[in-house]
Formats: sequence, C-alpha cells, structure tokens
Amino acid sequence: SSQTKTFHSLTPPLPLPPETALISSATYSLSLQLTSPWPDSTSLIDSATGQRLSYSQFTTQTNNLSSSLQSHLGLSKGDVAFILSPNSLQIPLLYFSLLSLGVIISPSNPSSTESEISRQIKLSKPVIAFATSATCHKIPALRHGTVLIDSPEFVSMTTSSGRELSCVGVSQCDIAAIMYSSGTTGQVKGVMLTHRNLTAIVANYHALRPERKSPAVVLYTMPYFHVIGLFYCMKSVALSETVVVMERFDLKRMLRAVEELRVTNVAMAPPVVVAMTKAEVTKEYDLKSLEGFGCGGAPLGKDVIAAFTAKFPGVLLTQGYGMTETAGPAFRAVTPEESLRWGSVGRLQANCEARIVDPDTGTALPPGKQGELWLKGPITMKGYVGDPKATSETLVLDGWLRTGDLCYFDEEGFLFVVDRLKELIKYKGYQVPPAELEQLLQSHPEVVDAAVIPYPDDEAGQIPMAFVVKHPQSNLDEAQVMSFVAKQVAPYKKIRRVSFVSSIPKSPAGKILRKELRKVAVHQGFSS
Ligand code: AMP
Repeated sequence: SSQTKTFHSLTPPLPLPPETALISSATYSLSLQLTSPWPDSTSLIDSATGQRLSYSQFTTQTNNLSSSLQSHLGLSKGDVAFILSPNSLQIPLLYFSLLSLGVIISPSNPSSTESEISRQIKLSKPVIAFATSATCHKIPALRHGTVLIDSPEFVSMTTSSGRELSCVGVSQCDIAAIMYSSGTTGQVKGVMLTHRNLTAIVANYHALRPERKSPAVVLYTMPYFHVIGLFYCMKSVALSETVVVMERFDLKRMLRAVEELRVTNVAMAPPVVVAMTKAEVTKEYDLKSLEGFGCGGAPLGKDVIAAFTAKFPGVLLTQGYGMTETAGPAFRAVTPEESLRWGSVGRLQANCEARIVDPDTGTALPPGKQGELWLKGPITMKGYVGDPKATSETLVLDGWLRTGDLCYFDEEGFLFVVDRLKELIKYKGYQVPPAELEQLLQSHPEVVDAAVIPYPDDEAGQIPMAFVVKHPQSNLDEAQVMSFVAKQVAPYKKIRRVSFVSSIPKSPAGKILRKELRKVAVHQGFSS
C-alpha cells in the first residue's frame, strides 16, 4: 500500500512553536535555553588563547552587539549580512545577535576567491559584511561597508552596553540564513533556511539529549560557515554545552585541547575520524574524558568505523546524514544501539517523513529497495534565493525535497546511503560542484571539452578528477590543467587528477555520462 511507502519518524512528534509565533530580540538566545539546569556554565572557550565566556556573558554581549548593530549601523529585519571568517569566539556572538534582530546571516568559506564571492553576493544581496583583517580585501563595497570582527571596535561593540535595544519581532517563518550550496547540479545557490528550520533541528537535540550531571564539553572541527557549524552553534546554546572553538583543524592541537579541557564530545567530518584512527600520536594524550564522536557530511567507510571502534572502545561513534537544504541532520543515530548499526546513518528525525523514489518511474519504494531519498518536514528549506527554477526542481509535489542521494531503508527504519545520484563531489566534506570546474576548464583556449567527476580517495573521501579533450595542436599537460583551475578557485576545489581523452561520453540529449567516466577512472587507477 502507499502508506508503507512513506516512512514516518519513529520519534513521537515534538511540539514546535506556532509558525506565526514571534520571538523578541532580547530573548532570542534565552528562548533556546529556557530549561537549562546550568544557566551560568561556560559557553565558549577559545582553544588557542584559553579565553572563556560564560552563558551570562554570552547573553549580555550578544545584546550589546545587537543594540550597536541596530543603532550605529542601522541594521534592521530582513537585511542580509555576508560573513567571511574562520571559526572564532566572535562568530556565535555575531550569529545570535544578527538572528535576534531578524537580520539574515549568509556565511561563506573564508578561502573563497573574489569571483566565487561575487557570485554569492549577487544571490544574497547583502547590505553589510563581517570579515577579518585577512579576508576583508575580497569583499566588494556594500551599502553599510565591512565590519572587522577581529578589531578593537568590534570588541567594544560586544562589551559596552549602548542604547537600549528596540525590540524586533522575529517570526518562525522569517528567513534566518542563506547558506551556499550547489544543490543537486550546477552553480552555487543560496539555500534559504527559516528560523523554524533551525528550531526544528534543535528541538530534536533538546528532546533526545542524554542525561548529564554537568554540561557536555564539545569541540567542533566543523566550520561555522557550513550548515553543520550553524546548527551546532544553536544546539549547543539550547543544551548549555561548553563549546571549544578551534580556528582551523589540526590533529595535535585538537588532542591537546581534549586532554586539557576534558572534552566529552567531538563533532567532525569523516577525514578526522580517519586521521584519529591512523595516527600514532593519539597515544601521547589522555583522552579518557571522551564520550562521543559525532560524524556527518560525507560517507564513513565500514572499515574506518571498525578500526575506530577497536582503537577507542569507550567512545561512541555516531553518524548523521543531512544536507544544507535540511538545516542539519535529517537522520541520526542517537542511542548506542542505533550507532551499532554499522553503515547506517541512523533514523529519521522527529516530525519528518521520507520516501525512497525510483528515479526512473517516480514511484515510492518499500524497505530494502534503492531509490532517491525524498524528505518532508519542518527541517526542509524554503527554497533557493532568486532561483525559482532550481527551487521547483528540488522541492516537488507538495513540498517534498529531492536529496539527489541514492538510499534504502531497512525494515527497522534505518537509512543506508548507497551513492550520490546528483552531480556533487565531496572533498573532505566540502562541496565541489563539477559543473563549475567544467565551465572553467572549457574557458581554456586549448580545451575543446571537459568533464569533472569524483575519484575515490582514502583520506579526502573523494577528489575532483578532470577528463579533458584538448586541441589537436595543444601541448597542454596535466600540471598546466591543474594550475589553470587552482588559480581561480578556493583550494578545496582544486582538480587533483587529470586524464586526457579524445571525447567525453554524452547522452543523446548532451548530458555527460558521468557513470561511464567513473568506470574509466577506476579502471585507470588500477592500471597506473
Ligand atoms: P552539504 O549540503 O554540504 O551538507 O552536503 C549534503 C550531501 O552530503 C548529502 O546530500 C550527501 O550526498 C552527503 N552526505 C551528508 N552526510 C552524509 C553521510 N552521513 N553519509 C553519506 N553522505 C552524506
């Protein structure tokens, strides 16, 4: 029956505020924290300097900043703020302050190039930017300019209480963030997430939080500009966690922080799990405080899970699956029993529905059958900003989000991710859209045609590999192709493998046959 083909969450429905409920600016962060048993625990620790902020300082500083942004910079509800910074203590303050004013946050990877940034800005139309002294030169002129968050002026905005905050009502259906993602195909898009999307994700963490005697101490290796960093930032406030902030990932520094700050939980992308499993240096640190490792953003190999579990038997390794378009994990393994279901990314979050859809016929399939995962619920995005075509291709029928991932359910509601149907490469958890690299390659005067596909890699998960057809007279070599692209993209998007071919296999409609290229690539990999 059609009923068995829509999968419902096994978690009882969680109450969410009515769509029209208004949150006032002054209580935005408090509203998440209402039930905290530790109202004045440590909120943030800078792992490099040891600087700490308590939750009461966090709330005060957020409100100071909000009032400054409102009265000095004239920011108001609906404005968009572009953010370009590595992780720092300032980011959660900035996020909460902007969100509480109804200002839409739009963070980008600080390693983005000027042309990548200009494409993002065309979509999100920010009136102001927040950057650091190292990243600000990449930002074009905006109506309210660029604020340096590593400047003394910014510090004084957070510490001095200025004019009283004039209250703004932020509603659940207002847009909270525009996050950049390539979606299932093509160029970068701006994913519009509402306050409700984020509230719905956080509600799951709040409802299913493990009982604790003291706040969890969590260390994120995820960047705040990615959706994982954004919702983690919010769920940590909701759970009164102590967050250890690291500017950029470094294994030894992470291990030292775990030892010194008694970190209980680490959240990371698969490459960090691989590094933890392989590195000898882990033995030099006291890691007994560790309780859990949460992983998501890309697939985690079964042998990596086995090796990790053998090496750290006391640490619970859990997986989650989600995408920018779902504001966080749509699936999660929560209990130790669930996390033992190796290879699965867990079960569906509360208030959500899922379908496995046959990509060829469009019919919904029962457990055990592979198809495209579709999702519906309060976590799915509002749409892509300024792109009704991409929105209608991704949000279909009455609000089903097409994920572009090939998955199946088992009989007990566990989801298994098999492959990616969409054109997306994930390098160390970061999105690399092949279409963007293909356009760059095709702009080279000696290139006739090009295609980019994911090539399997132990450490990074996947690396971008290019198939290039060059002009008959061209002497172009692999290194020249790689450096041509490297000069124009953020480092994580670099092409790391090149193969010259005489033609690119295409369908009659002109679509690149990526599956065939993937076969060729693997074959070449074995023979080289
Ligand atoms: P992003 O929007 O950057 O979070 O990328 C979302 C995509 O990452 C998903 O559509 C999947 O293809 C992939 N992904 C995320 N989490 C997992 C996971 N646990 N296992 C396999 N793939 C994942």
